[in-house]
Amino acid sequence: MASSTGERVVVIGGGATGALVAVRLAERGFTVSVIEKAAVGNGSSSRSNAGIRAQFGVEETITGMMYSEWWYERFHDILKTPAEQRQPVIQQNGYLFLYEDPAQAAPAWKPALRASAAQAWQRALGYAETQRRIGLPVEVLEPGDVTRRWPHIEPSRLIGATFCPTDGFLYPHVIYGEGMRRARELGVEVLTQTEMLGARLRGGRITSIETTQGEIVADWFVNATNAWAPRVSAHLGGLPLAISPVKRYLYHLRIQRPIMSAEDWERQPMTIYGLGAGRGALSRPDGPLLVLAWAHETPPEPEFTDADQDRIDPPFNHENGLENFGYATLAEVEAFAPQLANAGGLVATTSGFYGATPDANPLIGFDSHQANLLHAAGFSGHGLMHAPITALLVEALLAGDVTQGSVQLPAPFEQHSIDLAAFAPDRDFGSSAHEAMVL
Ligand SMILES: Cc1cc2nc3c(=O)[nH]c(=O)nc-3n(C[C@H](O)[C@H](O)[C@H](O)COP(=O)(O)OP(=O)(O)OC[C@H]3O[C@@H](n4cnc5c(N)ncnc54)[C@H](O)[C@@H]3O)c2cc1C
Repeated sequence: MASSTGERVVVIGGGATGALVAVRLAERGFTVSVIEKAAVGNGSSSRSNAGIRAQFGVEETITGMMYSEWWYERFHDILKTPAEQRQPVIQQNGYLFLYEDPAQAAPAWKPALRASAAQAWQRALGYAETQRRIGLPVEVLEPGDVTRRWPHIEPSRLIGATFCPTDGFLYPHVIYGEGMRRARELGVEVLTQTEMLGARLRGGRITSIETTQGEIVADWFVNATNAWAPRVSAHLGGLPLAISPVKRYLYHLRIQRPIMSAEDWERQPMTIYGLGAGRGALSRPDGPLLVLAWAHETPPEPEFTDADQDRIDPPFNHENGLENFGYATLAEVEAFAPQLANAGGLVATTSGFYGATPDANPLIGFDSHQANLLHAAGFSGHGLMHAPITALLVEALLAGDVTQGSVQLPAPFEQHSIDLAAFAPDRDFGSSAHEAMVL
């Protein structure tokens, strides 16, 4: 494994992952180039809902996200951002997961839906215990507590809620913009409008890659292209990656009738309106807007184009009458927070691609076909929050800081380590730990 400085690494992909990976590797003494086929932020990083939370179910993810939250709190100090350029990068309003009382919420529900809602609450209580044991300050709330803190939420259909105040949301353009600034400052060559087209291979290794700007020779190659990663891996002679590019939509509601003070508006948590089968609509404030989303079934689009990222299919377009997914999402919110949902109207639909894996955990690790290729992709809708821990794991893998398959985190998390098997790119998805807290 590499430990000497000066070895050359090419990071393919100029999003949040590529930026933070480049910074860490350059700090560690690697000679780094980032290649991005369009402009920095061309992919999902600029189309995201940008939530960050440590309320997950898989222990590796809980630990990793606690580290990421801690890291984003110190973002500008770590990246040595000049004082006059410091903009907010994280807003810790918390994540509030609301759980329904199957008996109260919808008496007309089929038994399977009720069972799923009941199971979601039981699972949440178990997760809260695990999260607290690991050190996350998560609270379990009674319906009355929820309404006292957030009066716009109706208690009647709730069985309870969990809230973690260190969760919140991120400002993606600051992550990749400032990340690339710091990378350049550390000597990283950031090549935009430079697309990876193919590779020269010898003896189970990549010797160089072919790009639209010519050949690049390096010792290591990092695939940080998320939804594009299976295509990129195929061009590099790498593994077939279990990542499906799936469309995901966001709805933007403009408030016409204020229902709370400006300060309370700004402090609203990312709120998830019910979990279990078919549930999981969410909202969060974004300046004067409320952003809404809800999981939906859309077929994978393995050959999507850059333009497809912003293509709004008719059933998902809020301008397409009331019979579309945007208004269905709004109705979900209305069931829990009628005042909020009725305070304004939908004004925009936006979209991008998730790089979804079968167990909703990313692929971070070496390729088993090409020994000097490392994947950091398949974030399943969580890549911005993962970026700091991803960068740490990529550095550990390339620099050889892995002991018996685990990476020990730095202070103040030195009592935690991450078992890389949870993220192995060729893991058996039939038996891997599935992340159930997916939104
Ligand atoms: C609607 C939506 C909501 C989301 N909500 C959240 C959320 O709440 N929280 C969260 O953490 N995450 C969320 N995500 C996911 C998150 O945005 C992504 O996981 C994250 O941005 C991935 O970053 P990345 O740098 O790995 O990939 P990307 O930002 O997609 O960057 C990959 C880059 O690779 C480049 N590239 C591709 N092929 C090549 C090539 N051959 N040569 C050179 N360059 C290439 C692309 O141009 C692109 O710029 C959401 C995503 C969407 C779409």
